[in-house]
Amino acid sequence: TKSILLKSRPKGMPTEENFEFREETLPDLQEEQLLLKALYISVDPYMRGRMSDAKSYVAPYNLNEPIAGGVVAEVAESRNDRYKAGDVVLGNLPWQTYSISNGRGLSQLDPNLAPLSYHLGILGMPGMTAYCGLLFIGEPKEGETVVVSGAAGAVGTVVGQIAKLKGCRVVGIAGSDEKTAYLKEELGFDEAINYKSTSNMREALAKACPDGVDIYFDNVGGEISDAVYSQLNDFARIAVCGQIALYNATSVPTGPRVEPILLKKKALMKGFIVSDYADRFPEAATELANWVKAGKLQYEEHVLEGFDQLPQAFFGLFRGENTGKLLVKVADF
Ligand code: NDP
Repeated sequence: TKSILLKSRPKGMPTEENFEFREETLPDLQEEQLLLKALYISVDPYMRGRMSDAKSYVAPYNLNEPIAGGVVAEVAESRNDRYKAGDVVLGNLPWQTYSISNGRGLSQLDPNLAPLSYHLGILGMPGMTAYCGLLFIGEPKEGETVVVSGAAGAVGTVVGQIAKLKGCRVVGIAGSDEKTAYLKEELGFDEAINYKSTSNMREALAKACPDGVDIYFDNVGGEISDAVYSQLNDFARIAVCGQIALYNATSVPTGPRVEPILLKKKALMKGFIVSDYADRFPEAATELANWVKAGKLQYEEHVLEGFDQLPQAFFGLFRGENTGKLLVKVADF
């Protein structure tokens, strides 16, 4: 099997130097074990946090051990009664072309339900994040204005489309003209702002949100969020989902203080981790799948081919190379 290990902890933007490729032969399967063949491997922004050794909600990756994350894999061999060769599973698995599992923590996927890769995106962790953060923290009501940052990514595209389904005015913030055009023309966003080419974000937001901002779904943090706070309405809700603009920062920049704004606007700001809502996942997965099936939710993937592309795919998240969910296809099913 081929694997990718964390060789050193990145300082700032991660580079190839932080990773090491290794090839080794796996041992024979023991009783209860499965041999898994990776089909699709997800790259996600939270992995940047696990590459550092700072205390967080998930333990850091160990040095000289494989990176791990969301993987869709085929059972290649099984000595476990619950699985047979040819089954497809989703799990938190190492970045390896083949890996051995004891079967714990895996969930079986039905290949006829949806394309297998969707379980790493709209029907998986990012989809659950969008659904739960928007609906349970944002609580959108018809006619309200929703702003989402990181709007063209895996979570953002789903947030904006659900907000449209709930009858909101939706404004997306993303990093290129292709992305803003995609949001408006393909996904039905009312407005979209390219933060890289806009010199005055406050003005651009005021123009795009003539009635102010009722809900802000924050995927990025930093200066983009500072600008959004200036446009909040009374009783606004802010779902703090991600802060990707700061993940490579070596020191956290000081922004404007938000407390006076929250106070004056009687606004609610709440950080969340998707697993907080695990009891709502069945409902979320059913609803998302129904919307996808009915053509009400569009879903885009940015797929790189080949296991060796994993580091580059991961870097792409921070360079904004993806529209929709970024993942790597490792093998055919
Ligand atoms: P995306 O698919 O949105 O990919 C990341 C995107 O972030 C890039 O495409 C890029 O788009 C944008 N970006 C990168 N660097 C910056 C920057 N410096 N400033 C502004 N935008 C930047 O990733 P996901 O949808 O998977 O994740 C989105 C966010 O949600 C992340 O912050 C992630 O950590 C968070 N998240 C949180 C979860 C939770 O449980 N709380 C669960 C899942 C995700 P652009 O071209 O627009 O710059």
